[in-house]
Amino acid sequence: MLKFDIEKREGLARVGVIHTPHGDIKTPAFVGAATRATVKALTMKEMNELGSQAILANTYHLILRPGVELIQEAGGLAEFCSWHKPTFTDSGGFQIFSLPDVKITEESVKFKSHIDGANFEITPESSMQAQWAIGADIHMAFDHLAKSEDKKDMEEAMHRTHRWLDRCVEENQKLANTAKKNHEKEQYLYAVVQGGTFNDLRAESAEYCASKNPDGFGIGGVFTAEGMDVMLKTVNSILPEDKPRHLLGMGQEPLDLFIGAEFGCDTFDCVGPTRMARNGSLYTYDGRINIKNAKYTHDFTPLMSDCDCECCKNYTKAYLHHLFKTDEITAKVLASIHNEHFVVSVTDKIRQSILDDNFQNYKKTFLARYYH
Ligand SMILES: [Zn+2]
Repeated sequence: MLKFDIEKREGLARVGVIHTPHGDIKTPAFVGAATRATVKALTMKEMNELGSQAILANTYHLILRPGVELIQEAGGLAEFCSWHKPTFTDSGGFQIFSLPDVKITEESVKFKSHIDGANFEITPESSMQAQWAIGADIHMAFDHLAKSEDKKDMEEAMHRTHRWLDRCVEENQKLANTAKKNHEKEQYLYAVVQGGTFNDLRAESAEYCASKNPDGFGIGGVFTAEGMDVMLKTVNSILPEDKPRHLLGMGQEPLDLFIGAEFGCDTFDCVGPTRMARNGSLYTYDGRINIKNAKYTHDFTPLMSDCDCECCKNYTKAYLHHLFKTDEITAKVLASIHNEHFVVSVTDKIRQSILDDNFQNYKKTFLARYYH
């Protein structure tokens, strides 16, 4: 069982440490989105230096390219991408169900690759096998994303997610037994709580997932901070306290991180911070700015004077503006370093504020300035 120590609690919020075979994650923590075994525009050295503790890769993308066998041949995800810290994989359910041509049966999901149209089929069992081959420390169960926000669709998808969870748990146990026999390192399974915006469904899903006794929990299908507090309160009051919880795909807005942590989530991941960086949308404590704006042409101050990332310590807004206007690759690199560092360090500060009994004060001050 994955080891998770809780150092401090305040309401549903907690500060803890997840112990993985590749090292510890101090929580709450922002996990870098390394969809295709890379965080876009950043090297693993840069990720390490900006303070990232863990990355999350996407099974769907890795099945298509380079194929999980190649990653296994390399010695697993951490070796393959040279990230010698904790790793997660998402099952890829979200990406597969977002494809245009998906055929879902109780047995499996059939889809065409978005790259070359090749036919693929994934079952809960094959998703577990792929994730074990990729070899991340923490896996997500293969879940079914509802086709609409309609309650009937949500309920159907949630129940299938639960039936698939049974199959994931069973397959995971087989794979874990084999790994143990071969003296390979342990890998851990998170069940994924679904149910959309319906609190009764969320409660049912949390109860079901908890009953399967996984190593931790992913909370999926959350897209906005609106109503997230109530939903997380419902879910995290039901989930066992002593197991870690990952809020899937959330963390683009600082508000997501504050609400997520306040209502009991331990880790977060989101492609938003680096995606926005590549478009020139950069975080500051006073909200996001668009560095491509003409007003930064002659601004020789750093993006944030109190940020200790490589970008802010060495470069001015005028320089960043120039790099973006001339479409230099370095623009995306420096901007991504800053944005990723921003969400990682805000989450670290949330952790510290809980330890210092100062969370509510930090939240109020931060959000008032950021969303003025
Ligand atoms: Zn910075």
